[in-house]
Amino acid sequence: MNARPGITIIGSGFAGLGMAIKLKEAGYHDFVILEKAAELGGTWRDNTYPGCACDVPSHMYSFSYELNPGWSRMFSPQAEIQDYLRACADRYGLGPHLRFGREVVGLEYDDAARDWRVSLSGGESLTTNAVVSATGALHVPSLPAIPGRETFSGPSFHSARWDHSVDLTGRRVAVIGTGASAVQFVPEIAPRVSRLHLFQRTPPWIQPKPDFPFSPRAKRFLALPGAARALRASIYWALETRALGFAVDPRLMRVHETSARRHLAAQVPDPELRARLTPDYTIGCKRILISNDYYPALTRENVEVFTDGVREIRENSIVDATGRETEVDVIVYGTGFKVTDALGGQRIVGRNGRKIQDAWQDGVEAYHGITTTGFPNLFFLLGPNTGLGHNSVVFMIEAQVRYVLDCLRLLSRTKARALDVRPEAQRAYNDRLRARLDRLVWSEGGCRSWYLDEHGVNRTLWPGFTFEYWARTRRPRPAAFDLVP
Ligand SMILES: Cc1cc2nc3c(=O)[nH]c(=O)nc-3n(C[C@H](O)[C@H](O)[C@H](O)COP(=O)(O)OP(=O)(O)OC[C@H]3O[C@@H](n4cnc5c(N)ncnc54)[C@H](O)[C@@H]3O)c2cc1C
Repeated sequence: MNARPGITIIGSGFAGLGMAIKLKEAGYHDFVILEKAAELGGTWRDNTYPGCACDVPSHMYSFSYELNPGWSRMFSPQAEIQDYLRACADRYGLGPHLRFGREVVGLEYDDAARDWRVSLSGGESLTTNAVVSATGALHVPSLPAIPGRETFSGPSFHSARWDHSVDLTGRRVAVIGTGASAVQFVPEIAPRVSRLHLFQRTPPWIQPKPDFPFSPRAKRFLALPGAARALRASIYWALETRALGFAVDPRLMRVHETSARRHLAAQVPDPELRARLTPDYTIGCKRILISNDYYPALTRENVEVFTDGVREIRENSIVDATGRETEVDVIVYGTGFKVTDALGGQRIVGRNGRKIQDAWQDGVEAYHGITTTGFPNLFFLLGPNTGLGHNSVVFMIEAQVRYVLDCLRLLSRTKARALDVRPEAQRAYNDRLRARLDRLVWSEGGCRSWYLDEHGVNRTLWPGFTFEYWARTRRPRPAAFDLVP
C-alpha cells in the first residue's frame, strides 16, 4: 500500500464513495479509501435484517449524478442499495483505491511536517496530507445496559448484525426496541415465530409509507431523458416541505400528528393496544417512522407488546419492570446506534498535541459540520449537526463533498499546505446553530432521542431546509480559515 497518499478517505459507505468519485472527476488520483470491513457499502453492507430498506424514496436516496431508473420499488430493499453502491464503485474505477480490512485506530497531526499520520489496527501506518473521515453516524450498534444481558443462554443479536444462522421459525422471540429497524423487521418475522414479545420503551410516531413496486413500463418511462430527474426533484420538494414544521413553526407538525393518529386508528382497532402505541411527545422530536405493516403485525394473535420496560434479563427469560417474567428462546436488539459518541470517541490528535476530546469537551461541534478548529485538513462527512430526519442524507453528503473539493482547490491556489478553520468562525457558526436549535421541536418536545447528547443538546441534526445547507456550503469562505504555509 502506498504509505504516502495525498488524501486518505476513511470509510466506504455512501459518503466515502461519494468523496472518492468526485475526487477522481476533479483529477485527484492520489488517494486511498481505508475500510475496516471486507466489503464496501457501510450501512447497506451491515444491515441485512429481514425487511431492511431505505425510508427515503430510492430516487432521492441515491447520488444525483448516478440516477437509477431501474429501482424496483419506491423504497428499495437493502440488497439493491448495496448493489447500487458496488456498481458506482465499479463505474468510477474506485477498485484500485479501496483497501479493505484496514481499520483506522488513530490520527495524529505532525506540526512540523504538516501531515497526518494515520495508524491502522494491524500496526501499519501511513502519512497523508488530508483526511476525509466518512465513518458513518449510524454505524456502531448500541446494546442496552440491562442487568443480566450477558447471562442469556440462547442466541441474541443486534439488528445491524443479524445472525442469519438462527432460524426463528416456531421460536419464542423477544424484540427489544421499537425504532426504525424494528418497525421494518417485526412485520417480517412475526408470521414465522411462535410468539413475539415486543418490549417498547417509547412508541414511535408512524405515518403511512407510500411504497409500491415500479412496473416494467414505469421503469422504461423513468429511463427516458429527464424522467428520473423530474421524479427525484418532485420527491425532494415533497420531503422538504416536512422541514416547515421544525424549521419554521413547530405548530405545523400537527398536520403530521393528525396523519399519524389516523393511521394508528385505522390499523389498530383495539383501544387498549392503541393507547399503548400512542406517543405522548410532540411528533418530530424523535425520528418519524413510516410503515404500512408494523401496526397490523402488532395486532396478531402471537404478538404481545410490553410497555413497562425491561428490568432484567435471565438465562431463559426477560423480566419487565412489573416483575412479570416471560420465557424466550431468542433476543433481537433493535436498539439503534451509538450516535454522538461515534465521533467523539475517536483517537484524533491535532495541532500542538491537542486531543479531539479536549477540543470537544463542551460537545461535538464543527464548522458547517465539516472542519473543526485545531485539526487542519481533517474533513468530516456527515459530521456534527448535518444529519437529517426529513430528507436524504445523500444530498448533504454531496454538498459536503463539493465543499471539501473546494477547500482542496483553495489549498492548491494559495500554495498552502493545510487549512484550519478559525476558532471565531466556528464559534459564531455554532452559536447561531444553537440559538436556532433551542427554539425547535427537539428541545421542546419533552422527549429524549438519539439526536441529543448526554446534556440534551442536539448534535446530530441539521435544523433547517437542506437547500439552505447547500447554499451555505456552496463555497468555502477563505477568511474563515488559517492557511498553513
Ligand atoms: C437501517 C438503516 C436505514 C437507513 N435508511 C436511510 C434512509 O432511507 N435515508 C437516509 O437518508 N439515511 C438512512 N440511513 C442513514 C445511513 O446511515 C446513511 O444514509 C448513509 O448510509 C451513511 O453513509 P456513510 O458513508 O456516512 O456511513 P456508513 O454507511 O455507516 O459507512 C461508514 C463506513 O466506514 C467504515 N468505518 C467506520 N470506522 C472505520 C475505521 N475506524 N476504519 C476504517 N473504516 C471505518 C465502516 O465499516 C463503514 O463501511 C439509514 C441507516 C440505517 C442503519
